[in-house]
Amino acid sequence: MEVQDKDELKQLQDRLAVSAKLVWDRVDAAERAAIFAYGDHYKTFLDRAKTEREAVTEIERQAKALGFVDLAQKQSGPRAFYSYKHKAIVLVVQGRRPLTEGLRLVAAHIDSPRLDLKQYPLYEDTDLAFLKTHYYGGIKKYQWLARPLALHGVVMKADGSSVTLTIGEDPADPVFTVLDLLPHLARKAQMDKKVTDAFEGEKLNLLVGSLPLGDSETKERFKLHLLKLLADRYGIDEEDLVSAELEAVPAGPARDLGWDRSLVGGYGQDDRACAYAALAASLDVQDPEHTCLALFYDKEEIGSDGNTSAKNCLLDEVVETLLERQGESPQARRRVLMASKALSADVTGGIDPDYPEVHEKRNAAKLGYGVGFHKYGGSGGKYSTSDANAEYVAWIRRIFQEHGVIWQAGELGKVDEGGGGTIAKFLAVHGLEIIDCGTPLLSMHSPFEVASKADLYMTFKAYRAFFQAG
Ligand code: MN
Ligand code: MN
Repeated sequence: MEVQDKDELKQLQDRLAVSAKLVWDRVDAAERAAIFAYGDHYKTFLDRAKTEREAVTEIERQAKALGFVDLAQKQSGPRAFYSYKHKAIVLVVQGRRPLTEGLRLVAAHIDSPRLDLKQYPLYEDTDLAFLKTHYYGGIKKYQWLARPLALHGVVMKADGSSVTLTIGEDPADPVFTVLDLLPHLARKAQMDKKVTDAFEGEKLNLLVGSLPLGDSETKERFKLHLLKLLADRYGIDEEDLVSAELEAVPAGPARDLGWDRSLVGGYGQDDRACAYAALAASLDVQDPEHTCLALFYDKEEIGSDGNTSAKNCLLDEVVETLLERQGESPQARRRVLMASKALSADVTGGIDPDYPEVHEKRNAAKLGYGVGFHKYGGSGGKYSTSDANAEYVAWIRRIFQEHGVIWQAGELGKVDEGGGGTIAKFLAVHGLEIIDCGTPLLSMHSPFEVASKADLYMTFKAYRAFFQAG
């Protein structure tokens, strides 16, 4: 058939070619209001959950408030949670079908890049008191200098008691900072060097005080003043800091970003954008066909090693516990997982218009165009990734279409530009279907990451649709 008519060409275009869908163009007034309301709840979550421990506490609190019972304590109910070492947690919503027909898993991580304190952190130099840090995860070190930082975490004492600290979030609190060099004297020490060499990890020391104790005869009196303050206020001594996990994170709350308030700016959106969406979807899903699990893991940002990471046995334990509940053999676990479908809930990089050269624009996520999925990640020829099966990608497309989820597909950057991994490959070892699916971010891994409220909401909608789907 010869095509000539202009209208006919337009129709062909609409029918055959992909066209990106801007969320704001597609939603009605009610959904637009839902997007902004969701953004407010999300910001509150970011503020309450700046560390993995705080995220577990907040997820557990919200789940309990809606009737989730403690699976680890052998409580039974259709909605349950399983908290592990205060750093990982699983939410379970029981489905109608038997477990052996497969689960629906949404797996996110709740750790974010930051500065951890060393075991012997406190010292003084030039009559100033500091804490030594060791950075956690992939950071651009210069972004952590000359900005207010808060300390969050726990100090575990040898007698088994503990002290939980949060300093720097209340406007009345003091904050801490890592110093930066004045530009006047930075030419040789910083400016003439490569960025990777100009900022040294060992120099990421936190300024914490400048008051002495005693007189000039007193040894290390600036450090001593801080030790006395810690003892008086928290009952801890220097050795207690050896068994502490204290994290320096950007101080202050998440904010609406932009005159039109369409964006959220704040710390830790990788991966709390997806973690919160997974939480909200778990709380919202009603009477699903398949049993739904939301998994919140720690240690993703350092390669998922360690017993609270996605490489641990938590999923196995939860599935075996659920099987026992249904009077089935825990040995059916492998069959359950092989029949399961999963979303690796993690953020992706949006196109930064100032750096278009790192993206391949036909296959990159754009802010405002919905939840993004990656068929594969990794680097250097799809190394170290789980490349999702085409059959599964097609199924995801169908589910999203049926539930009005606005989505986009892409990859993290240009081929050989760099790359990154997610927990998808660690869950894929169970034989389940899995694909990366999450919110596009700008300024990822920085102290102030940026997301579109439209994409955040579509991420929630995507996870809920996935849970609800048959
Ligand atoms: Mn992530
Ligand atoms: Mn990350």
